[in-house]
Amino acid sequence: MSRKGKVTVTRKQKRNFARIIASAVLLVVCAAVDKYIALPRWALILIYALPYLTAGYDVLIKSFKGIIHGQVFDENFLMAVATIGAFVLGEYPEAASVMIFYQTGEMFQSVAVGKSRRSISELMDIRPDYANVERDGTLVQVDPNEVEIGTEIVVKPGEKIPIDGVITEGHTTLDASALTGESMPVETGEGSAVQSGCINSTGLIKLRTTKVFGESTASKILELVENSGAKKSRSENFITKFARYYTPIVCALALALAVIAPLASMALGMSADWSKWIMRALIFLVISCPCALVISIPLSFFACIGGAGTKGVLIKGSTYIETLSKVDAVVFDKTGTVTKGVFEVAGVHHNVMEEERLLEYAALAESSSNHPIAKSIAKILGDNADKSRVTEVEELSGQGMRAVIDGKSVAVGNDRLMEKLGIEYKPCHKAGTVLHVAVDGSYEGHILISDVVKPQAKRAVTELHECGVNQTVMLTGDNAKTAEYVAKEIGVSKAYSHLMPEDKVEKVEELLAEQKKGAALAFVGDGLNDAPVLSRADVGIAMGALGSDAAIEAADVVLMDDDPLKIPLAIRISKKCMRIVYENIGFAIGVKFAFLLLGAIGVANMWFAIFADVGVMIIAVLNAIRMLSNK
Ligand code: ADP
Ligand code: MG
Repeated sequence: MSRKGKVTVTRKQKRNFARIIASAVLLVVCAAVDKYIALPRWALILIYALPYLTAGYDVLIKSFKGIIHGQVFDENFLMAVATIGAFVLGEYPEAASVMIFYQTGEMFQSVAVGKSRRSISELMDIRPDYANVERDGTLVQVDPNEVEIGTEIVVKPGEKIPIDGVITEGHTTLDASALTGESMPVETGEGSAVQSGCINSTGLIKLRTTKVFGESTASKILELVENSGAKKSRSENFITKFARYYTPIVCALALALAVIAPLASMALGMSADWSKWIMRALIFLVISCPCALVISIPLSFFACIGGAGTKGVLIKGSTYIETLSKVDAVVFDKTGTVTKGVFEVAGVHHNVMEEERLLEYAALAESSSNHPIAKSIAKILGDNADKSRVTEVEELSGQGMRAVIDGKSVAVGNDRLMEKLGIEYKPCHKAGTVLHVAVDGSYEGHILISDVVKPQAKRAVTELHECGVNQTVMLTGDNAKTAEYVAKEIGVSKAYSHLMPEDKVEKVEELLAEQKKGAALAFVGDGLNDAPVLSRADVGIAMGALGSDAAIEAADVVLMDDDPLKIPLAIRISKKCMRIVYENIGFAIGVKFAFLLLGAIGVANMWFAIFADVGVMIIAVLNAIRMLSNK
């Protein structure tokens, strides 16, 4: 990570820099010669052509090529016309310096863009280059693309995990900071699933791959960030369209200034003064160059996505930056989002069968589900689970599980499931999540389980309100008691309980309808059974996405770890980005407009024009790359 923040320069940039210096020196020499020796016109043209062409030969070539290819109106064209015009009018030093400054601006911009691209690839340090596979007793490095599912690969300490898999041998600590932005080493060992992109810090491990390379976490994330340019925000689209119409309009105006103004003067009986008006038209052209906007706005978004990425916040396109910045209501899912999703058994009540057998049935019924409840319950059995006893399973989203165990039909779930199956159940008087267990249609008692609120959840809600969010809402399929308790604990403004996944969509739609115009609603979930809600919200945020493809797919914004503080962080980052974008739009258009007026009435000269073009561009780009760092 030593490269972070350092500006590196490519060879081409170095060459351009040398060229700029050389032409500047040549220009000074020419100016000195011009001052002390009276030269004829042709000699002046010749000597000033030296710095001019040194600085700008490529601009001339590019604009010429543009004309041939029918793409006339670009910034090269503006610069070529303006400087050649200045030459024709005898403003030699101006012509050369416009070119030199223009090139300085271009070089600066290419360094800035290069820097933000590198920051993204720094985040993208997760790209694995090889996998170690054992062949004929020796380890060979192979292209991870060629590794099939179920292959055993070896990851040595210090290496990146190339492909998602399950550890079959060895113990180690993993560093997932490149994925999550958080440098919390995680201890792991045999039987655990590991994600590609993590760095294996300490021990040698063997893993059996569970995915192909292209479907592994690292590849997915890379793909996501690389495609983020496709989902353009309105501001970004606006600039592209703007540039398409703007340049021809400006050229037409300049032409009008150069032709109509002198003709009008003539008609009024004054002298036409062609060269004065043509010069003004040229100044007008230099001022009007729209590069400050065309470059700085996409750069701001790009730098924002890169900067957020290094913090473990993946934003899938600039359009979501815009939406995030307008978020007025944040809706949370409960389990796994504001709570840890790690349940402990708090008690077994009203049980007819033995407590141990009841727990065993529940654990077996849950053994094939990915729900946080299921995972926590299945832990009770640990490795002793004999899954062959389970012959049929069905997961009822938002209700529970049905399974056939030892030939008996077992149902494990909440009140709603019992009501649906027509089984009379005993309500629980304690706060917590209740799992009723019924075997062959008769009630066998319930298990009370409890989850804990994430320690940062309360802070996150407070920070959300601080950064302009007016409404925070929690939705859950759990019972009212638990919902109330959690809602109070974290301080959300509203909570709704007893919701099936489809009720959550409905609730979000209600909340969306209540939104003021221009305000946005964000839904935060784990992407497990809330994908429909994630896609219904203006912006869907999935958290704890590391290891869950479903979440990465379904969401617009992906938080790699499950820290709720990343939600206000994502909003703050987006707000900062939009502020910079609007600052740049206002500043660039304002300055240009003022200078265009001054140019048209003849107050601004070529030097003003150069500031209006290059100066504004440099300031706008500097402003944009502030997005790369987020404190
Ligand atoms: P949340 O809205 O808190 O994220 P879910 O919608 O995932 O929760 O689940 C809602 C309720 O449905 C849970 O509180 C639980 O009572 C029941 N439930 C869901 N999945 C299961 C399961 N696998 N086993 C038992 N109960 C479940
Ligand atoms: Mg859920």
